[in-house]
Amino acid sequence: MMLLWLRNDLRLVDNPALFYACESRRGVVAVVTLTPGQWREHDESPLRMALWRDRLLEVAGALGELNIPLKVLRLDRFGDVAPALCDLAAELRATELYFNYEYPLNERQRDREVCRMLESTGVSCRGYHGELIIPPGQVLTGQGTPFKVFTPFSRRWRQQLLTRDAKPLGLPPEQPVSSVPSDPIPDDCCYGPGYEVAEYSRDLWPAGEAAVSARLQSFIAEQVQDYREQRDFPSVEGTSRLSPYLTIGALSPRQCLNGLIAGSANDGWLDSTWLNELIWREFYRHLLVAFPGQSRLEPFRPEVEARISWQHQEEAFAAWCRGETGYPLVDAAMKQLLHTGWMHNRLRMLVASFLTKLLRVDWRRGAAFFMQHLIDGDFASNLGGWQWCSSVGADAAPYFRIFNPQRQSERFDPDAAFIKTWLPELAPLTAAQCHLPGAGVSLGRPAAIVDYRLARQSALDDYAAHN
Ligand SMILES: Cc1cc2nc3c(=O)[nH]c(=O)nc-3n(C[C@H](O)[C@H](O)[C@H](O)COP(=O)(O)OP(=O)(O)OC[C@H]3O[C@@H](n4cnc5c(N)ncnc54)[C@H](O)[C@@H]3O)c2cc1C
Repeated sequence: MMLLWLRNDLRLVDNPALFYACESRRGVVAVVTLTPGQWREHDESPLRMALWRDRLLEVAGALGELNIPLKVLRLDRFGDVAPALCDLAAELRATELYFNYEYPLNERQRDREVCRMLESTGVSCRGYHGELIIPPGQVLTGQGTPFKVFTPFSRRWRQQLLTRDAKPLGLPPEQPVSSVPSDPIPDDCCYGPGYEVAEYSRDLWPAGEAAVSARLQSFIAEQVQDYREQRDFPSVEGTSRLSPYLTIGALSPRQCLNGLIAGSANDGWLDSTWLNELIWREFYRHLLVAFPGQSRLEPFRPEVEARISWQHQEEAFAAWCRGETGYPLVDAAMKQLLHTGWMHNRLRMLVASFLTKLLRVDWRRGAAFFMQHLIDGDFASNLGGWQWCSSVGADAAPYFRIFNPQRQSERFDPDAAFIKTWLPELAPLTAAQCHLPGAGVSLGRPAAIVDYRLARQSALDDYAAHN
């Protein structure tokens, strides 16, 4: 009997732990460990967990068709997992545990403890890198050290890719009929008592296998060729919107890569901008493993952070969270986040720059708020994104590069279509008026909470003063 421990890898295709657990056809039991206390501490958003649960229901049904029952262990914290899995393995007389690696520090410590305990009772543990195309530690400089800069990392990553088989694994084989009963998946399985079950738009974010795979296929067939030109315009559906699925493992990066290759007439896929974004995702995960301080929210470049005095601007922070800064594109972006759980990448950069450079609020607060609200909240990418925007990250923008929100608005939402979607009260205004700080005060919109030029200068002065 094999135990398959499912976490953020909720898929049947290209799931190495599942595939190899099933290979010998000796019978597999899947298990999920619910740790709401830990998840809350990690700021896992209710939306993300609701999507995770819906997807788990789908996966449980599909596993049932392969004769793989699903056990559900209701625990609280990561520390509870090892003894609970040991008990389950003993009860089922499991001889092996299969799982796909996760890379943040707490997750790795949890997994190490699980393996230590299980192996001491004679259960072998087998981990796989299903969450990445190239495992951490395998894209290194000529000196054998991790890359700290993205472009050379991506160059070496591409070279490495050409030397390996990155084809997704198929569906696993059916198992012998099992006498182990499946556990029900309760509605509130991701939350502790007193926590509300989140509602999210299932039209926007369907959890089913067919819908996820159709989204990938249609993006490859219709949008990827224009991705480079379209991806910066939030009113255009120019990006794949696959991030929530990659984050919970409903889709693997190898499936994305394979789709991209299959949809390309020639070798152009290797230099495609979309692949580059998938490589950023890989880069941030590689950094997490190579530099454990990242998981403790240490800046990648402490010497930069040492020159910034973070401000305790409670009111301004609250206004940013509500989408009431008086900067229309910043506010529209925050409304998109609050209403859909997702935000366009260009806008994530804008609102993060606004918070950390114009309001000078610590990037960790913005990162936590994002995690609490994003349906695609992903520790590594979120951390990387926030450190990049606040200039304290690996290969980050220099500190003096501070987005001008009005200019960003004019460039990336020229006809104010995005602004008017999320701030419909601005409909009577012209596009030019919508770009202005404090637009629509007479229509009920807030005045600008900071003056861009003064705030920018003050940030630069602070930075220079600590040189
Ligand atoms: C401040 C900040 C916070 C972010 N937080 C998250 C987060 O919590 N979760 C998350 O998945 N992404 C995060 N990103 C990265 C990026 O904004 C999203 O991945 C992207 O907007 C998702 O939309 P998409 O699926 O349409 O992406 P596409 O443009 O279609 O890209 C395809 C995939 O590549 C990956 N990707 C794209 N851009 C990046 C990037 N800059 N860094 C890492 N991976 C990338 C994602 O998995 C994405 O789904 C953050 C970026 C910033 C600047």
